[in-house]
Amino acid sequence: MQNKITSLKELSRNLWWSWDTEAKQIFEELSPLLWERNNHNPVELLQHISNNELLARCEFDYGKKIDQVFSRFTAYLNEKETWAAKNAPELVKNPVAYFSAEFGIHESVRIYSGGLGVLAGDHIKSASDLGINFIGITLFYKEGYFRQYLNHDGWQMEDYPLQHPESLPIEKVTDADGKDLIISVNIAQSEVFAQAWRLKVGRATLYLLDTNIPANESHYRDICCRVYGGDQNMRINQEILLGIGGVKLLDQLGINPAVYHMNEGHSAFLTLELLAQELAKGVAEKEAMENVRSRCVFTTHTPVPAGHDRFSRDMMHYTFDKYLSSIGMNFDDLMRLGSENKENIYGLFTMTVLALNLSRSANGVSKLHGEVSRVMWQHLYAKSADEVPIGHITNGVHASSWTCGLTDNFWKKFTGSIDEMSLSRETAEAALAKVTDSELWSLRYILKRNLIDFIDRYLANQLFHQHLNSYQNEYDTVKAAKNTFSPDVLTIGFARRFATYKRAPLIFRDLDRLDRIINHATMPLQIVFAGKAHPHDDAGKDYIRQIVQHSRRPQFSGKVIFLENYNLGVAKRMVSGVDVWLNTPVRPMEASGTSGEKTVLHGGLNFSVLDGWWPEAYNGENGFSIGNGEFFENHEEQDSFDAEKLYSTLENQIIPSFYDRDEKNVPVKWIKKIRNAIATIAPEYNTHRMVRDYATKYYLNK
Ligand SMILES: *Cc1c(COP(=O)(O)O)cnc(C)c1O
Repeated sequence: MQNKITSLKELSRNLWWSWDTEAKQIFEELSPLLWERNNHNPVELLQHISNNELLARCEFDYGKKIDQVFSRFTAYLNEKETWAAKNAPELVKNPVAYFSAEFGIHESVRIYSGGLGVLAGDHIKSASDLGINFIGITLFYKEGYFRQYLNHDGWQMEDYPLQHPESLPIEKVTDADGKDLIISVNIAQSEVFAQAWRLKVGRATLYLLDTNIPANESHYRDICCRVYGGDQNMRINQEILLGIGGVKLLDQLGINPAVYHMNEGHSAFLTLELLAQELAKGVAEKEAMENVRSRCVFTTHTPVPAGHDRFSRDMMHYTFDKYLSSIGMNFDDLMRLGSENKENIYGLFTMTVLALNLSRSANGVSKLHGEVSRVMWQHLYAKSADEVPIGHITNGVHASSWTCGLTDNFWKKFTGSIDEMSLSRETAEAALAKVTDSELWSLRYILKRNLIDFIDRYLANQLFHQHLNSYQNEYDTVKAAKNTFSPDVLTIGFARRFATYKRAPLIFRDLDRLDRIINHATMPLQIVFAGKAHPHDDAGKDYIRQIVQHSRRPQFSGKVIFLENYNLGVAKRMVSGVDVWLNTPVRPMEASGTSGEKTVLHGGLNFSVLDGWWPEAYNGENGFSIGNGEFFENHEEQDSFDAEKLYSTLENQIIPSFYDRDEKNVPVKWIKKIRNAIATIAPEYNTHRMVRDYATKYYLNK
């Protein structure tokens, strides 16, 4: 029995479990209540269950289940016939080192804020599945990103619960003598020390640097406090630690990457440390730069000029003075590498420019974003926009992470695995051909019922806290929250960061019209919202408040709902349960977006502005578009136009086709769209395809 317990503990310490339905179930089955309470964290869960209980539980079927899951886990780790072994053996020999300021792997490891992190998390999982030798580098944020709750007014409040390493599946990295491995970086006149943690993600490893150690002065310990926390000064310190510290860590570990991948400009200082290594070998500066360039690839994620990280010359000077003299580099030469205008090195230092200058390839994250990026950075190249060397690889999602157990088991009845559903159009269509409309429709019902049950529990809890200190009778409020949504009603989901360009309140522009839509006698609608605004973004917080206050109007009460504390777990519930996933960014500000891709295998349909990944994927039959990419200089006009399209598409297309039923109450035309969406979107917009593209186009191709 003891070996089963050892297996269970080992499973809890590799995030592989987070994308394996049975592995998740063995933890949940141990204690559904504790599983929920501990934010689906198996390390913490196991700390609450005694060894005696585990021994007793392992006696019967439960012990057999552990053995089965564990043997699949070890088979996975030892698999030799991987995609990479066959198609990219170079990437098995030497690792890809992938640097990202955040990684969203599972809600219990709070080192991510939003889409960029989720993408990095899905990337590392697919790299593991494909057998690429893959190392992630990030920081260990002891407070992570904030936990969101709303006050009685609907205003976002933030709270920062600590993450304790002993409750996470991480272990300290040690050197050959078993001592903590410590690296150091120069920041201003100080030497700042960091230890490293190791997190296993299937076959891949993620290293997390951590300055929160006694060797540092207190303000340097705080570098690893919060994801994107603090001011510009904190930001540059985090980026030095990530980029320069990350390269030093790999060096100390004796790892020689085949390629360095910068996921967004935050990590671009890594190129300086690579340059320093070249210069230390005595290579001349020009050749040294070429050598660095030949080893780095860069992905940009920001279609808005203001969204790129920039630092003042003064700040650069203050922060890099000592470092530059140690590596023998001239300050003006550094400024030249990060200046948008080579003639003027007295302005700002732009991380994206540094990354573009010192990488052998660069890419945006959708076709449209590639085009926008080529225009945006054209001035750096003195070339026509078409010739600017920035390509694109469209973002995807890690299919098995984003399918809930129910959906996973559903598709497994018709095909080998979820990965097969997203392998090719042929494999998806072969499975779809075996599924009847009624079966698909019953899947939709169960998934929506599960979401509603989740919302009821979640909301009761949320309202209880919101009203604890107010005059309302909290018990009545909690009771009133029960049975709000109906599984018969068309359900729209909207959840994302509350950056203002995403225009979360757009659907409320005409309240009377929305009232008529939502409260239609025979064809009603219900909408569930979630999302966090950045702590400094008061305009984003105001959007949240607007929505919360609309949801309290009598005509919308119980039909429009805002769920607190959007995270990976809430996202998964939402994308699996809703009928329609709404997306209303100002085009072309959404570089890609991925949340809509998560809904497809659950039978959800996208309803989106033609921005990010959607113009590539939308074929007129696999979802719905808001407008046709029309552009207005004037924001008001744009919003009015897009809102009008949103309403009219809902009224004339979405709602009638959802409620158009055959004699068995099945919406045949709607299901045809679901089938089309699964066949055309699932095989394309997933990270297995995306990582294979990175491997063949960029990692292998020098
Ligand atoms: C998928 C996801 C995102 C990114 O989605 P977008 O479509 O880019 O907004 C952000 N946050 C969470 C929690 C997610 O699951």
